[in-house]
Amino acid sequence: MSGEGNGKTLREVSASGSHYNIGVSLGKQCKDQALRMQKMLKASVEQMPGMTLEKVLAHTNLTLPLTKEAYPEFVEEVEGYADGTGIGFDLVYASLCDRPFSRGKGCTDIAVNSQWTKDDVVLAAHNEDLEPFHYPDLCITRVTPKDEPGFIAVTYGGIYPTVGMNTAGISLTGNALVQNDTRLGLPKVVPVRKVLSAKGVYDALTWSMPPSRGQSYNNIICDQNGEIYSMEGSATAFDALYGHEGYLVHTNHYLSPRMWRFEDDLHTRMSSIIRYNRASKLFKRHLGQVDLGTFKEVFSDHVGYPESICRHPDPRLGEQDQTMTLFSAVFDLTRKALWVCAGNPCEGEYRKHEL
Ligand SMILES: [Zn+2]
Repeated sequence: MSGEGNGKTLREVSASGSHYNIGVSLGKQCKDQALRMQKMLKASVEQMPGMTLEKVLAHTNLTLPLTKEAYPEFVEEVEGYADGTGIGFDLVYASLCDRPFSRGKGCTDIAVNSQWTKDDVVLAAHNEDLEPFHYPDLCITRVTPKDEPGFIAVTYGGIYPTVGMNTAGISLTGNALVQNDTRLGLPKVVPVRKVLSAKGVYDALTWSMPPSRGQSYNNIICDQNGEIYSMEGSATAFDALYGHEGYLVHTNHYLSPRMWRFEDDLHTRMSSIIRYNRASKLFKRHLGQVDLGTFKEVFSDHVGYPESICRHPDPRLGEQDQTMTLFSAVFDLTRKALWVCAGNPCEGEYRKHEL
């Protein structure tokens, strides 16, 4: 990529072995981030009228049996992480359940199969948009469990995966949606982590939409054959959008007519609508020649600024309401590589990380 770049890089951590030992190791390497995440949890609780930390912990603990049932290995990782950081399990678990309190403002995703790419590779790409103060919690995590495929992911605090790809050629990217049917149920991080243990697309789709879920991301799942799915979920329903044209774009509103009635408030989705249409239009021009440069161009776009595809903090808003692109990522499922640009893609450069 051209340009000087912004000089930003993300921390890299790795862990292997049993799920508990993976958690301990990640906890030790990311203790400072875990402590900051606890602080943010406490601060956000203080801002909720009538809410106390005890009430939040009691509430999130109600979901623990569901998490244990859906994916006990993740609970073991969280137990290890709690021990590795020296922070209590309840607090770590609550922080993972509640972590994306951000109201689904961000993220732009594009996935494309080999028919349209310059080097005949399958690519899954993502801009991560969140409040700017989450940036210091980002981490590139490599995990090799003794009993599951290894994976590389961009995580918060080493343990909360937001996008990732595993050695079986499955990637998980996606965006937040704001749905009107949320309920007490399985936290939405659990399916994200579990999909990264899938050995094939059938398990990945199944695990992306556990019926016990309390809410859902739009989980975009790709495999190395170029199967591209956008699992548009709410708590109680979903639609599986397929990349019929060989590619797929998604932002932060429901596209499937089946899911429109679960949209909480379309009035708040103008950035998402602009980013969706803009990314679709810009991306189409590159079909047949798609490569890393395509994503650098599309993900750096500023139409609709500051709530554009490349998002920048809106100075008219308070810190809690601002959104910015924290990183941009392109997974090459064919060559098993991850390209990450730390910070805004208009300023930074994509660096390669092998799985
Ligand atoms: Zn920008």
